[in-house]
Amino acid sequence: MRALDVASLGLLTVGQLVTMAALLPLVMGRRISPAARRAQRFFLLQAVAWTSLFVASPPRGNSWEAWVLTGTAAVTMLGQWTLGGALALWLGPRPGRQALLLCCLAGPAGFALLRSDALARFVWFSAVQGLGLLILARMCLRPGRESARRWRWVLCGAGGAVVLGLWSRAAWAWLGGVPHSYASQGPVNQAFIILSSLCITAMFASVLGAWRDETSQQLRSLVVTDELTGLLNRRGFEEQAQAMLARAVRQRQPLAALMLDLDHFKRVNDALGHEAGDQALRLFGRLMRDRRRESDLAARLGGEEFCLLLHGDAASARALDGRLRQALRAAAPAELGHALDYSAGLALLQAGSEDLPALLARADAALYAAKAQGRGQLQNAAPATISSIAACA
Ligand code: GH3
Ligand code: MG
Ligand code: MG
Repeated sequence: MRALDVASLGLLTVGQLVTMAALLPLVMGRRISPAARRAQRFFLLQAVAWTSLFVASPPRGNSWEAWVLTGTAAVTMLGQWTLGGALALWLGPRPGRQALLLCCLAGPAGFALLRSDALARFVWFSAVQGLGLLILARMCLRPGRESARRWRWVLCGAGGAVVLGLWSRAAWAWLGGVPHSYASQGPVNQAFIILSSLCITAMFASVLGAWRDETSQQLRSLVVTDELTGLLNRRGFEEQAQAMLARAVRQRQPLAALMLDLDHFKRVNDALGHEAGDQALRLFGRLMRDRRRESDLAARLGGEEFCLLLHGDAASARALDGRLRQALRAAAPAELGHALDYSAGLALLQAGSEDLPALLARADAALYAAKAQGRGQLQNAAPATISSIAACA
């Protein structure tokens, strides 16, 4: 059928890619992540590659045709490398980056070296391009975040399908079954272009899925983060603390809660202004983040009240308090121009029979005892009474 000849199908695919490359920035807007920017570039590079394949180098056997195709091969592989970069940013460090780089360099280089042998360069580049796509598909397979599962599978499936198409067409050409030109007529090239077009659509959907996942992850992190200090806010703390407490009970680990409150903070605001108060809160947040271990939770529960939750006994909680207090006493005069101290209450989870509010309430009571004792110190909570344990059981 005339409407379905290779040139028409190729031009349709070019139109599809150009539309996608133009649509992504329109849909995603200006302020996007480096990963989303790379994904946009991938579609742009594919659009350039397909355009040069079907528009700039018709199969007339011109002397410059081989060079145009070599450039096309380079742009195609640059697109693969760019997509690999997007996946690494979206899913964390991925295996196979070095192998992918090797393919991206070897593909166009081999194509240039074999430029006078159309069959050899066709088979070589199909093999290397397929290998690159296979590496990208494998990058999608490594377990990522739970929410990232669906678009990873779609991208992986689309990549795998193009590899099958590329390799079977190249094998057939090698065996002499089909012409070894990208734009020559015939059902194999027609089928390959239709397959590519469908897979490009699937890749487009995957990229939108990845971008949506990333955006909702960013929103989610805004919801649980305290804007001023960058620590967890009360909501984030409660969610993560529940999980930490359940783990401590399950694994019979000690769990300690430190409730902290800056001393005479109102005076800082009154004497130096609200901005100076904010600066002090930011400093305290930074010191809490730096002095805790990776597994400890650090949160600003509100105003100038903070909490640290750690898998550890009283000695390790006291050590953390000591490190933080020392750091604050040194940093406050240097960075804020005035002294700053805090009071703290320490409570240890009681034998798995206590819930989070009860543990925090005891730490809070110990904090008020520290205030009453003159501030600038740590006080231990009284053990939970039988009646308070029974109340929360
Ligand atoms: P104490 O030693 O008994 O804890 O005295 P305090 O002055 O620290 O306690 P109080 O609870 O009376 O005052 C807390 C102050 O913290 C009052 C409020 O204006 C200030 N504050 C709460 N949130 C913020 C904030 O986000 N920025 C600034 N700059 N100040 C805040
Ligand atoms: Mg205070
Ligand atoms: Mg307070």
